[in-house]
Amino acid sequence: MVGSTPGTSPLRDAYRKVCDRIAAAAERSGRKAKDVLMVAVTKNATPDQIRGLVEMGHIDLGESRVQQLGQRVAQLNEFLARHKTLGGAVVAKPNTPAMPEEVRWHMIGHLQRNKVKQVVPLVKLVHGVDSLRLAEELHNYAARTEQVVDVLVQVNASGEASKHGISPPAVPHIVDQIETMLHLRCRGLMTMAPHTDNPEDARGPFARTAELFNEIRGEKVGRDGFNILSMGMTNDFEIAIEEGANIVRIGRALFGETESE
Ligand SMILES: *Cc1c(COP(=O)(O)O)cnc(C)c1O
Repeated sequence: MVGSTPGTSPLRDAYRKVCDRIAAAAERSGRKAKDVLMVAVTKNATPDQIRGLVEMGHIDLGESRVQQLGQRVAQLNEFLARHKTLGGAVVAKPNTPAMPEEVRWHMIGHLQRNKVKQVVPLVKLVHGVDSLRLAEELHNYAARTEQVVDVLVQVNASGEASKHGISPPAVPHIVDQIETMLHLRCRGLMTMAPHTDNPEDARGPFARTAELFNEIRGEKVGRDGFNILSMGMTNDFEIAIEEGANIVRIGRALFGETESE
């Protein structure tokens, strides 16, 4: 037979592999695949790869840089709008989940306060709240625009000075402060593992963040909305899931190592 097998492509294969690995790790932690959300990190993806992933039915996308976020959102919205006017049948393939009408963008990187008004209208969740001043800026913007913005507090669980994030002992306090801000909703915690060659080095910081997450969640009734633990990237997502992550942020394992620009 000549030609490629229907339904396979490097991206599709990579996607399936990551989904399988997530499912296996979820099972090891006594959960199901659907209990762990994959955010596909597009910072090194080509526009074609992003469209390809969305065509496979993937909904959650993450960006760490503000300017790229704006470009990606615009490109993808154009694609989704065109798809809608042409009608789904044109590109629909058998045995594939329907392409979503809308995607959800996540701001996963460090957010500067002067970029809040650019980012908030584009995203569903801001993962990296790493200071009270940023929370206040987000809250002011949300109040002004009459909305409630979902955020995660970023934890610096490895103690590396180069990392953004709140030191673990200070985290419950900032969560309490955000809870007094009516236009913010603190949905949980996010952390990044230390940069090392050994993924197992991430286990300690992940476990520590999970412990903090469970403590905060357990200490007050009515904290039902505080239910997101975002940790784990290509190198360490299985360890993160084993330690309790319910969002993983995956770039290279899906899109490869290539720089898009
Ligand atoms: C780039 C990035 C990721 C994805 O990293 P990979 O190693 O490509 O999977 C996840 N989270 C954040 C905050 C990032 O900046």
